Amino acid sequence: MSKPLHRRQFIKTSGQAGISAGILLSGLPSFASVKKSSTGEIGYMQQPLPYGYPALEPAIDATTMTIHYTKHAAAYTKNLADACVAEKVDTNATSLEQLLKNISKYSPKMRNNGGGHYNHELFWQCMRPGTASLPLGSLLNAITTSFGSWEAMKNQFSDAGKNRFGSGWAWLVLTADKKLAIGSTPNQDNPLMDVSELKGKPLLGLDVWEHAYYLNYQTRRADYITNWWNLVNWEFVQNQYNLG
Ligand code: MN
Repeated sequence: MSKPLHRRQFIKTSGQAGISAGILLSGLPSFASVKKSSTGEIGYMQQPLPYGYPALEPAIDATTMTIHYTKHAAAYTKNLADACVAEKVDTNATSLEQLLKNISKYSPKMRNNGGGHYNHELFWQCMRPGTASLPLGSLLNAITTSFGSWEAMKNQFSDAGKNRFGSGWAWLVLTADKKLAIGSTPNQDNPLMDVSELKGKPLLGLDVWEHAYYLNYQTRRADYITNWWNLVNWEFVQNQYNLG
């Protein structure tokens, strides 16, 4: 797990100039001129969905994906940009991650929309079309060490999603002492936030808001979670783990 810090820092710094300009010029940024970062860092802009709206069917239907991405998630991004202007956040100087780590210093609007934006940007990347797969390599080893087995980890994560009352997220995180942990957060909070009970770097996140599943599953959140496992992009999760 090597860490080319200098190169990463450079990419991070150069990437954010474009991000900030996009927000300030248009409210909702255009995507064309912004290269996707290879650092795994999530910026202030809504990135293009990495696949088409119907690509995750049958687990997640095209209408749900369309509304989720173009309405719910896009609104969080727009409202985050508005909050950054209102609360004078210099998005050149402050990464989204830094903002979230100090979220108690900002308004509820910043908390709800900063979290909402980050969580959805991560969520899209946590999924991919195709057949179901499993974690491998160093990630699988860490999962086995922490939870006993892959199945045990899956059950614990599923329970975290099922048992989250109301709206929120289930998470697999890498803690500060480099251990894996599972938990959930309410509303659009996430484990990066200083206000969160569960703390760590998000490796895998699952949206359990009703807007993520209601059209297809109605009240059957457990069925949504069961089918969602077929979509998990373990290469992305492994990459998040490597970067942690
Ligand atoms: Mn959502």
